[in-house]
Amino acid sequence: MRKKPSYVHKIQEGRSAVQRLYQIVEDGMCIGCGICQSIAGPENIRMKLVKNGTERPVVNGELDHKIMDKILSVCPGTHIEGLPERLVDEHSQYDEVWGIWRQIALAWAHDPAVRHIGSTGGLLTALGLYLLESGEVDFILHATKSPAHPTFGARFISRDRDDVLVAAGSRYGPTATLIDALEILDQCDRTGESFAFIGTPCDVTALRNLAMLDQRVDKFCRYQLAMVCGGFMTPAGMQQFLRQLGIEMDQIDDLRYRGYGCPGATRIETKDGQVTEKNYLDFWGANESAWQLPFRCKVCADGIGDAADISASDTWEGGSPTWEGQKNDPGTNAAIVRSNAGQLLLDRAVSAGYVCLGDTISPRDMDRFQPHQVVKKQSVWARFVGMRCAGKIVPDVRGLRLKPLARRNSLSENLNQARGSRRRSKDGNGKEETPIPINSES
Ligand SMILES: Cc1cc2nc3c(=O)[nH]c(=O)nc-3n(C[C@H](O)[C@H](O)[C@H](O)COP(=O)(O)OP(=O)(O)OC[C@H]3O[C@@H](n4cnc5c(N)ncnc54)[C@H](O)[C@@H]3O)c2cc1C
Repeated sequence: MRKKPSYVHKIQEGRSAVQRLYQIVEDGMCIGCGICQSIAGPENIRMKLVKNGTERPVVNGELDHKIMDKILSVCPGTHIEGLPERLVDEHSQYDEVWGIWRQIALAWAHDPAVRHIGSTGGLLTALGLYLLESGEVDFILHATKSPAHPTFGARFISRDRDDVLVAAGSRYGPTATLIDALEILDQCDRTGESFAFIGTPCDVTALRNLAMLDQRVDKFCRYQLAMVCGGFMTPAGMQQFLRQLGIEMDQIDDLRYRGYGCPGATRIETKDGQVTEKNYLDFWGANESAWQLPFRCKVCADGIGDAADISASDTWEGGSPTWEGQKNDPGTNAAIVRSNAGQLLLDRAVSAGYVCLGDTISPRDMDRFQPHQVVKKQSVWARFVGMRCAGKIVPDVRGLRLKPLARRNSLSENLNQARGSRRRSKDGNGKEETPIPINSES
């Protein structure tokens, strides 16, 4: 195991292993990916629906400090790193905001049907289809609608075209994609199967962290693909949105956030068969200040998939679609190719007719498409300073350029960010209750 993330360990001194896990939740740093359940085993930790309406780890068995140390070094709430150094070579380029990259280009699924159902241009779905149908991997580990909670996502394994298409589209709710990642590796160990992973930057962070402790990640997981991620809608925000439409959470039978167009409608089907469709701009609001995000997403050090082989994003000027522009938008992703494996994958998927490539673009084009990501990258270092002053957990961050990015701000901007974050932290902003499950079945 590598050097311990000292700050997190230090502020956890004197606590029991269970208290240490719950401190990650209480300090608002749990994103709900479920990797802790996988590390401790479901008989010891289980992701459950808790009082605030989201999924959190609940200890229901044994948890010792050794397992907790492992969780701390893998959890994306306590440890975040950029692309592993072994994946950087003489073809790698570097941008302070966008990280390591080899190629950045517009891209979309070649098949118009896939492009249509995909969240943006169907790039991730097309890559998944290529990987399965070429036989490069045996399955894709990713996410789809949760059967238990239709506004959530849930981990999903795709073995054929139909599966991959079912999972297309962004899930803007809590999604525990990694609850059984280690069981999946055990299974690959037995069968020799390989897979590709598609998930959020936090999920990729957790998998890359796990790879430092378990070499089977790199042996069996051939590709780690991420979407650029500005955060998901809190369950409270979702409930507020639904109530404005006269819909209660427990009436929902099916919910699609986007896709079937770019971005496509947010489509809610209730158990009585009624369908309500709202525009993406109604759902999210026209700019980032309206987004109702979990605290962890507001202080995200990596929303751009820094550690992924390829990250895929939207390409709207200014970071949001316009009412007019989305009417006939077929959907176009930006593909940020970071590693050699990602480059070979994209090249082969293009040659095999699964992906279309458009113009080459630059990190500065990405700034225009993702202004909220640029602002966040530049603000996070100061926000962490404020959280640290308030005695909160701050993740151990390496290779994400946060300090040089903060230097782009004026001293007063950084002071404002740090003071605001310290004040909000002291006021309990982002504080969560100790996880108590709503009921034992959830
Ligand atoms: C929470 C969230 C926030 C986002 N914020 C931004 C942003 O700020 N800027 C931006 O440019 N793009 C953002 N996106 C990404 C964007 O919505 C598209 O996912 C991305 O452009 C890829 O489009 P695509 O057409 O290739 O995806 P698709 O072809 O539709 O494929 C999506 C893939 O992602 C997987 N997936 C979907 N949701 C989740 C989830 N919650 N957890 C794990 N896996 C999932 C699916 O299983 C599928 O394989 C966000 C996505 C999510 C889920």
